[in-house]
This record gives sequence, C-alpha cells and structure tokens, in this order.
Amino acid sequence: LHDKLYFTSMASVTHKNAKRIEGLDKNVWITFTSVAADPTIVNLGQGYPDIPPPSYVKEGLVQAVMVDRLNQYTRGFGHPTLVKALSQVYGKVCGRQIDPFKEILVTVGGYGSLFCSIQGLIEEGDEVIIIEPFFDCYVPMVKMAGAKPVFIPLRLSDRKTDISSADWFLDQDELASKFNSKTKAIIINTPNNPIGKVFTRNELQAIADLCIKHDTLCLSDEVYEWLTYKGHDHVKIATLPGMWDRTITVGSAGKTFSVTGWKLGWSIGPEHLVKHLQTVMQNSLYACPTPLQEAVAQGLLRDYELMGQPDCYFSSLAEELQGKRDRIATILKQAGMNPVIPEGGYFMIADVTALNQHLSHVEDDEPYDYKFIKWMTKEKKLAAIPVTAFCGEESIKHFEKYIRFCFIKQDSTLDAAEAILKNWNKA
Ligand code: PMP
Ligand code: GLN
Repeated sequence: LHDKLYFTSMASVTHKNAKRIEGLDKNVWITFTSVAADPTIVNLGQGYPDIPPPSYVKEGLVQAVMVDRLNQYTRGFGHPTLVKALSQVYGKVCGRQIDPFKEILVTVGGYGSLFCSIQGLIEEGDEVIIIEPFFDCYVPMVKMAGAKPVFIPLRLSDRKTDISSADWFLDQDELASKFNSKTKAIIINTPNNPIGKVFTRNELQAIADLCIKHDTLCLSDEVYEWLTYKGHDHVKIATLPGMWDRTITVGSAGKTFSVTGWKLGWSIGPEHLVKHLQTVMQNSLYACPTPLQEAVAQGLLRDYELMGQPDCYFSSLAEELQGKRDRIATILKQAGMNPVIPEGGYFMIADVTALNQHLSHVEDDEPYDYKFIKWMTKEKKLAAIPVTAFCGEESIKHFEKYIRFCFIKQDSTLDAAEAILKNWNKA
C-alpha cells in the first residue's frame, strides 16, 4: 500500500519546462533514427559511415586505454597531446601559429563546440544569421541562448539538369539586407550539410566583408573540411584578412576519422573568443574522455606527417567517397529523382518531384518530404532524411520536394539501395 501511494503521488507531480527550451522538443534525428534501426531497412538516413574507420585510429584507442594514466581525467579544455596535435595540423592549414592552450577548446563533438560557442558568445536579444538549408541544431542552440535566428536561403540558379551544389548561391543583396545593429554572428557551414556546397573564396570573402563592416562574429562549422571532391578546395574563412579575430572554426574527430560515435570535436579561434567558450566548458562538461583524445591526437599526428601524400586519410577518404557519390547520383537518376551533385561532404539531396508520388493518405500536417520519407521507409524499405528539417518555416515551400541521402556506405549497402531504387516503379 505504501508503494502504491508513493507512486501515485509521484505521477501527479509535474513541473513545467524551463522557458529556454520551450518549443524545442521536436528533433529530426530522434524521429527518424529509431525507424531506420530496423535491420530490414537500408539506411541512408542519419550521417554516419558504415565503412570501417582507419585501423591506426582504432589501434590508437586500444593502446591508450592500456596506459593507466590515460584512463583518468585530463586537462579540461583539451588533453595536451590533442590540443598540440590540433595546433600543428591547423597551424599548417591556416598558415599561422595557433596556441594549443589558449586558441583551442576540445568538446563533445562538433555539437559541443557549437554549443559552447553559442552559449559563450551569443546574448539574449541578439540576431544570428543562418543560411538555409542548415544543420538543424543551430536554431535550437541560438534560441536557447535567447537570440533570434534570421534566415537566408541558398537560391537555386536556372539550370534544370546536372545540378550541382555550386548552383545554390547566396543572393548578395539579400544577404546584406539581413545584417543590422542587432546582428551578433553569422553561422556558415562549408562543406555544407545537407546540400554539399563548398563555399568559394569569393563567396566567403563577400560574407567576410559584411562581418567586418557590421563588426559581427562568424561561427564556421567545418566538420566536413577534409571532404571535398575534385576541383573544389576547402577555404577557411578564418584565414581571410581581418577574419581570424572574429571567427570560431568548428571541427569534428567523428567526421575527420569516420568515428562519429567518439563524439569529440573542437573550436579554434582567437584567445579573446575561445576563453568564453572555455568558461562554458568548465561549468558544464568540464572535460572530454582522455583515451579518445589521446587516440585522435595520435591519428592526427600520423596524418599530419603524410599530408600531401596519397596515404593521408585527410585526402584519401574524399577520393574513396567520390566514386560512391557518383554511383548514388546515377542510381537516384535511374529511379527518376533529380540529384544535386555535392562538391563536398557525404550527403546528396535529390528532388523527388518527378516521381509524382501521391501522399495525401500518409498524414496531412507535415511537409511533403516528411511524408515522403515515412512512406519510403515503410513501403520501399529505404531510409533518408527530409530536407525541411534543415530550414525555417518560411522556406518549407522551397525545400519540401527534396530528401537527403548519406553515401559514406559500404558497397554492399549501396548495392541494396540500388536494388530498391531500380525496382522503384515495379509493384
Ligand atoms: N555540424 C554538422 C554540419 C554536422 O553534420 C554534424 C553532424 N554530426 C555536426 C556539426 C556535429 O558533429 P559531431 O558528430 O562531431 O557532434
Ligand atoms: N551530422 C549527422 C547528420 O547530419 C548526424 C546528426 C545527428 O546524429 N544528430 O546526419
């Protein structure tokens, strides 16, 4: 009887959520990853590799845990071996000395870096410019900081066939019109998830000019920095004149070494900004797992030595993926979809308009792409991600006929997807 009374009274106690998380309870990954976990479904949804990570990275972790000291806490802002390795790699890429202890913060994934940056630098009442389509978490993070996201969509050129991510561009006047005295920052993502756009130096220069003119910060999410395809180079906005002092660059070990489950990431920038991110880190998570940081450090040092050579994972992964990119584009076209060929990253979006799939029976209060993915996962046993998860309300009409496929997959997974797509129109 006592237990019964206890549980009855527990159930009746409810507390309201904190205002800062009001309306942020929906999440595309929560919705779509559980459905795709069914092993009979071919999963090209959530972005993670099913190809094996490099063996030296895995072995590095095994070796790290065998060292007793490396199983204990390490320096909160980043394990010394890792921040030093990061300063070497990024020092070389950026062509400047990077202070490993003052200009780098290691966090839990690219997510942690974004979170620490936004919490540490964005104020209530600020405006933050976000380019659509964007990696979904930018908006809830900006809202949790009490700020207002201001959207600008990438616009599609007039080209009708063989569309690539380069055909999606920012209208310069429109971009300039988004900046005002409340603008605290712009968030950019290059190579972009989900479109795969790799911003050119000129495009980044135009953004940089506006940041300097309006004295705003730039949060540059570059987790796919090593993944650009032939003819496209990744440019870091932090390396443009006048930008280092106002830019935080976000990276991810999960993306760099195909170990997304390790959830290690970093923010790199000037001391006067990074110190605020460090304040968030020390008062929230404090430190990241030591053995993972040691293994990532050893991996970075290995590939640092090999930079410019064919065996360097920083470049060899993109070469391996280029074939997969071209293959998935071909099979999507054969099925009647219209893919946008990405210049970088490991996602491809495809326009499904031409399939003329009627979905009025699925559920009616959701954008077309959500309905399409739910239908495709159930009926075709193929999972992908709806592109409107990456845009604001106003832009749903521009993006709801697109769905996103992840192609960092073994040939056997792509074979299974091809079999489904080839038989698309049969029964
Ligand atoms: N930014 C982008 C653009 C991403 O696609 C992801 C996906 N993981 C992240 C940040 C977060 O990276 P992590 O998995 O290292 O937290
Ligand atoms: N970045 C990956 C994607 O876009 C994973 C996102 C996630 O797990 N939240 O699919």
